[in-house]
Amino acid sequence: MGKKRKRKANDNGYKLEGENPRKKATKATIEKGILGEARSLQKIQGTCINANEIFKVTTTSRRRQRKIVKPPEEFDKAMGQLQLNFEGLYNGLRIYPYNAEGQQIAKTTVEVDGVKMGEYSTKDQKHAEMRALEDLLKNGKLELNTDGTLTANSEISFETDIPNCGFCTAILNVLGAGGLLTEPSKGKFNLASNGYYPLPGEIKTNRQFWENLTGIDTEKMLDYVFQNDSSDYDSKWDNFIKSPDHFNSFTVNIFKELAEQL
Ligand SMILES: [Zn+2]
Repeated sequence: MGKKRKRKANDNGYKLEGENPRKKATKATIEKGILGEARSLQKIQGTCINANEIFKVTTTSRRRQRKIVKPPEEFDKAMGQLQLNFEGLYNGLRIYPYNAEGQQIAKTTVEVDGVKMGEYSTKDQKHAEMRALEDLLKNGKLELNTDGTLTANSEISFETDIPNCGFCTAILNVLGAGGLLTEPSKGKFNLASNGYYPLPGEIKTNRQFWENLTGIDTEKMLDYVFQNDSSDYDSKWDNFIKSPDHFNSFTVNIFKELAEQL
């Protein structure tokens, strides 16, 4: 372990518990089923006004036609102005100070029904926790539901050897998988602070997950991006995630916003 770095409690009224109370990370073991309460920002009124202002649509009653406020070519500009409030992600959570050095490599060890499934290290900027999730999803030990939360099909033990960074803490909570966090923190980790934080593919493409994370009304957003397109929202979303310009701009800006709040 590197030098200990003390984090200041932030000025959002957010409480951090004292200096790292646990010398060593403890194992988080969860039973089959729901992994923890999903923390959806959609339930918190008024948190994402700015983001939805960007994607505002108005209805002109005379023509009964939707009029889009901004043209789609301005999407990137609008994404650059994205302002979200993720504070609700941490409400009521027991959070530890993040005192691992930014360049440390995290390792997550996973056991399924008492048998070791694997060890995952942070690689190509994909955090150990996300690599472990990816494998658990592939093996069907975890399942991503249509509401954007995870369910365990087995008993899963998940141990990460350094504090879970703020990104992993937020993402696992949004996925309703807070039970997999070993030592949740609000700190940054490695290059995720530059707005790049690779997610398992199945999670990355799940529309409900993004709604839960940001509170953005994705139907409004898709109307904005695909004007004069009468296909359903699922087809529009498929086109959106296949469009690297738009989808990358969307995800990178969200992670940049999140990084500012960690
Ligand atoms: Zn992380």
